[in-house]
Amino acid sequence: MENAPKKPTPSIKQNLGRHQDPAVRRSNFDEVALGFGQDEAVTEAARCLNCRTRPCELACPVNIKIPEFVDLVYRGKVGEAASKIFETSLFPAICGRVCPQETYCEAACVIKDKFGPVSIGRLERFTADYARQNGLIVPPPCAPDTGRKVACVGSGPTSLAVAAELRKLGHSVTVFEALHEFGGVLSYGIPTFRLPREVVRFEVDMLRKMGVKFLKNVLVGKSITVEELKKDFDIVYIGSGAGLPSPMNVPGEDLVGVYSSNEFLTRVNLMQAYKFPETDTPYYIGKKVIVVGGGNTAMDSARCAMRLGPESVTLLYRRTRAEMPARAEEVENAMEEGIKFEFLTAPVGLEGDEKGVLKRMKCIRMELGEPDASGRRRPVPKKGSEFWLEADSIVVAIGQSPNPVIQQTTPGLAANKWGGIIIDEATAATSLDGVYAGGDVVRGGATVLLAMKDGKAAAKAIHEKLAAGSAK
Ligand code: FAD
Ligand code: SF4
Repeated sequence: MENAPKKPTPSIKQNLGRHQDPAVRRSNFDEVALGFGQDEAVTEAARCLNCRTRPCELACPVNIKIPEFVDLVYRGKVGEAASKIFETSLFPAICGRVCPQETYCEAACVIKDKFGPVSIGRLERFTADYARQNGLIVPPPCAPDTGRKVACVGSGPTSLAVAAELRKLGHSVTVFEALHEFGGVLSYGIPTFRLPREVVRFEVDMLRKMGVKFLKNVLVGKSITVEELKKDFDIVYIGSGAGLPSPMNVPGEDLVGVYSSNEFLTRVNLMQAYKFPETDTPYYIGKKVIVVGGGNTAMDSARCAMRLGPESVTLLYRRTRAEMPARAEEVENAMEEGIKFEFLTAPVGLEGDEKGVLKRMKCIRMELGEPDASGRRRPVPKKGSEFWLEADSIVVAIGQSPNPVIQQTTPGLAANKWGGIIIDEATAATSLDGVYAGGDVVRGGATVLLAMKDGKAAAKAIHEKLAAGSAK
């Protein structure tokens, strides 16, 4: 049913969506945010003023036509709303769940300060879920085959965006993935309680229907090199991500019970260790878990640990809540689930027993000093404030660097001192002809939407190169 022309009602309270009860969800891996029903979506959409200057759309890294899709939701034309989003973003069910809208579109929403922003992310998710569940999503049409071949290394959001854009233009695309599941961090990092796997699989299947080929268990650089790929493909796009863990560099980091977030999340999310022995991969966390870090990875690690049933999970962050890079909503969710936060606290050393098993962590209190290169105030240790926390396991989530295999095995591929592949910002071209790169392997750990934005921009440059006939 189509709604009447809109009379904007911004003063209705912003709807933040329903959530599973914290006391229940802290012991299951089901989705925490329950999404909007259609009535809630229409009411939330009615708050939008349909601004002609489109501040929300301009703030979106991929410029989703927000006022138009929100208006279509209001009118009950959800299929058309989904098509409107698809014009610029092929993965709204993913972005609607994990994008930091509070720093992009919702931060720019003109009603934000007075009434709270329109819940754009939740409306995006509603639109994508409704369209998927009601069979309203048809793969976009693809141009006739050009005969040109592109290989994407890695199957994370940046490669998925490249694959979608180039396939639509008629190029043949093959995605090579080192793991046994596709989706990159969307599959092995972000837990199912934030992003159900069927959502990621649906998007990968849509690309398959468009003709994209997916090959798993292929570690490019070892199973096949970039140079070898170049013999079969006109273009190679490297989207191998940033999964190399950064260590804390404190004594005792090799004790039993100390995990990198990458290992811990891969065990829990990809290998489904929480179902052991039904699955093959076990886990050990013991009674007291400490997670170190303040980003999304730390939050996901802490919340996964909580769901494994320890007595306590404590998160250590060396700055204050205000400086935490994690999404505000996820910090709140973590607090509701009973995770303890120790702000302005950093690890100094770990101590184990005679068998090398972790027992406790020495910590120090910090205070904020002058701003550092990131613009945030630098944490400075407070002399004499050391103390001990008991710990059976620790998950270290303090940052990740670009995966190094390809850089190490591809002669002539220029990388910076952090291992990030160097590209021409305008074209995403690397130092090697016909080889492009984007996403976290270039930026270091960033966001899903920036990885997709890189992929879209690279696809445009790749298409221009292929059209000019100068690849290989
Ligand atoms: P990735 O997603 O890392 O994908 C790279 C893929 O390449 C992987 O599948 C990897 O196995 C594969 N690969 C690596 N080397 C090779 C090789 N040699 N051969 C073949 N395949 C290879 N961002 C948000 O916007 N919102 C969030 O809520 C959020 N939460 C996050 C939570 C966690 C735990 C983590 C780790 C990150 C999170 N991020 C979030 C960041 C976001 O997920 C990344 O910025 C994004 O996934 C980067 O995309 P990518 O395609 O560049 O790389
Ligand atoms: Fe609607 Fe807010 Fe965008 Fe204006 S800025 S069009 S009110 S979502």
